[in-house]
Amino acid sequence: MKISEIHVYGHALPVQNGPYRLAMSEVWTLPTTIVKLVADNGHVGWGETCPVGATYAEMHVGGARAAIAAMGEGLIGAEVAPLPLHRRMDALLTGHNYAKAAIDIAAHDLLARSLGVPVATLLGGALTDLVPSYYSTIVDTPDETARLAAEKAGEGYPRLQIKVGGRAVEIDVETVRKVWERIRGRGIRMAVDGNRSLTTRDALTLSRECPDIPFVMEQPCNTVEDLQKIRPIVRHAIYMDENSVNLNTVISAVGTGLVDGFGMKVTRIGGLQPMRTFRDICAARNLPHTCDDSWGGDIIAAACTHIGATVNPKLMEGAWLAQPYIAGNYDERNGVKIVGGHIRLPEGAGLGIEPDEGLFGAPVASFG
Ligand SMILES: [Mg+2]
Repeated sequence: MKISEIHVYGHALPVQNGPYRLAMSEVWTLPTTIVKLVADNGHVGWGETCPVGATYAEMHVGGARAAIAAMGEGLIGAEVAPLPLHRRMDALLTGHNYAKAAIDIAAHDLLARSLGVPVATLLGGALTDLVPSYYSTIVDTPDETARLAAEKAGEGYPRLQIKVGGRAVEIDVETVRKVWERIRGRGIRMAVDGNRSLTTRDALTLSRECPDIPFVMEQPCNTVEDLQKIRPIVRHAIYMDENSVNLNTVISAVGTGLVDGFGMKVTRIGGLQPMRTFRDICAARNLPHTCDDSWGGDIIAAACTHIGATVNPKLMEGAWLAQPYIAGNYDERNGVKIVGGHIRLPEGAGLGIEPDEGLFGAPVASFG
């Protein structure tokens, strides 16, 4: 089964109750990029990649579309199976994992549809049909963040991620303490995510001022070197997120004992094929991790849920989805939704999503 056509669509995802605010950026609407693969036997598969703005990571929407265009014609005639497809993509373009991920996800969807099985089956098999999510607060006042955290704990989220950074660390300390006052004793896990924004000085202060609160420090500082510096002296577990840009950095972080787990994004690491390898590396070292993405619609949400369903539940830190922040679904009937802090694995073959193509308009590029 070979690729005969590739169509690329641009679509604006509206942020509801915006803006969505991180330590170093805020967004009101996000342009996502959707890929439709058509095989020579008529089967179709959908993929997506959606950088959360241009400053969150070394990726942006124009880069995604340019990279897909650079590979487009060269992928016509390629095998749909993930391993040969990645070999072909790597022969056409070095790096640009986040663009390759859209093709990878579409290929998994197409292959699974053609076999009549869910994508989770291609990834080794689902261990559950109910995948935990986690709620992520935006950077806000200590009182508002604590109020929101208590509300989301009440909705059934098993884990909360508190965004910090971009301001005086004393406010972050106050925020973490106020959140903990509201959720302690309820069995809810907590991550404090600096999204690379803290100095090592402020990361140490945050940890030392909260020695009694069992949170995980997620990507507090900007670089691997910063994490190496604070690792021996902080009181909290450290998870790597933005620095884990490919399997090589993951292997180094795991092998040197730099981290206690990961926040992992499906598109950052290059799609579901490298994601399953990442999952198995973490399982071998008993390291917890998330399976999510920085942003995106139903297609990415479904991809995160399918890989998340294959992770040992003891190590699964949740699949964060942009869904609660986005108005509307690509698939009104089967669109992925978080209910009670959990996500039901979509039913049916492939990703289980039938996007309403009318939403996307004419392709911005087509190949084949
Ligand atoms: Mg993170």
